[in-house]
Amino acid sequence: MAKYSGPVCRLCRREDTKLFLKGDRCYTDKCGYERRAYAPGQHGQARRRKLSNYGSQLREKQKLKRMYGLAERQFRGYYHKATRMKGVAGENLLQLLERRLDNVIYRLGFASDHAEARQLVRHGHFTVNGKKVNIPSFLCGLNDSIVVREPSKKVTRILESLGAVDRRGVPKWLQLDKDNFQGKLVTLPSREDLTMTVREQLVVELYSK
Ligand code: SF4
Repeated sequence: MAKYSGPVCRLCRREDTKLFLKGDRCYTDKCGYERRAYAPGQHGQARRRKLSNYGSQLREKQKLKRMYGLAERQFRGYYHKATRMKGVAGENLLQLLERRLDNVIYRLGFASDHAEARQLVRHGHFTVNGKKVNIPSFLCGLNDSIVVREPSKKVTRILESLGAVDRRGVPKWLQLDKDNFQGKLVTLPSREDLTMTVREQLVVELYSK
């Protein structure tokens, strides 16, 4: 599937939830979903149709995929990986997505949204356990230490995002040392740690057909 390059607030309105794709704006009253909490398009304000079983599964999958900014093939790859792991496939899937380096950068507050985090990683601003890593899909593990590289400590976008981190908060599976521009995975994320409203079981049902 081609990469979506249209207005991202439209995606939140389509999925009927906030996907937090636009950095700080998502936390203000300028949020597109707050202002127009109905589906986009000509018939968006009509009553939402009751979804079929398949429709609900599809929407849940799209929501999750869009939240992390992934293409279908890549997302499906995570599903297959999740089913090969021990435990509940849906929870494994969420954990894999959360452990992506671009997501960890975003959750630690070094970037204001996933797209920015991905770009910062690609531009080589971070090290993981002392080694420069510029692959957004790099899977972080327990006790991994993520550090902003010395020359990158002056990057405005990183400084601005860190400035807003107290308002956003850092999940408890991560530890942020803001003064030293570094963070660590103190545990692997469990389902209880993830606050997003997503029914991951529906995604598993969709793919396992
Ligand atoms: Fe979604 Fe953020 Fe746009 Fe609000 S501002 S609609 S949360 S992307």
